[in-house]
Amino acid sequence: MFYSAYHSIDVVNGEGTRCTLFVSGCDHACKGCYNQSTWRVDAGHQFTQQLEDRIIADLNDTRIRRRGLSLSGGDPLHPANVSAVLQLVQRVRHECIDKDIWLWTGYQMSELTTAQAAIVAQVDVVIDGKFEQTLADPSLKWRGSANQIIHTISKGI
Ligand code: SF4
Repeated sequence: MFYSAYHSIDVVNGEGTRCTLFVSGCDHACKGCYNQSTWRVDAGHQFTQQLEDRIIADLNDTRIRRRGLSLSGGDPLHPANVSAVLQLVQRVRHECIDKDIWLWTGYQMSELTTAQAAIVAQVDVVIDGKFEQTLADPSLKWRGSANQIIHTISKGI
């Protein structure tokens, strides 16, 4: 997997203070996408074991308390990313007990493959659906267009 950016402290992508990973790879080609530089699966940097370990350590850093991990992109559920993202979310679940996981995807919950659904099963909040420029609304919280849905899987937001 490749990623375009990692923010160890982030307060704009989800509830509270978070760690946010923007992965590379997206096939949705939404008109008006603000993040086209992440479309190629090999854009940016290689996601390494060292970065995975750092994310776990950052989430458990008691000096700056993070509420959880946000996964955006690109698309964390792109087929090229599902293996690495599943490993990451499973580690967060096992090693970062009180942290939540938010995930943004252009896929709709109803169309997920088994591999994608296995990731979503580990996640607390999913914002799904393509960005629809005709439904764009800057006043919306956590989403860019009105068709996108915030799914709370296991915790309140
Ligand atoms: S799903 Fe997100 S990253 Fe992918 S094309 Fe649409 S707006 Fe861009």
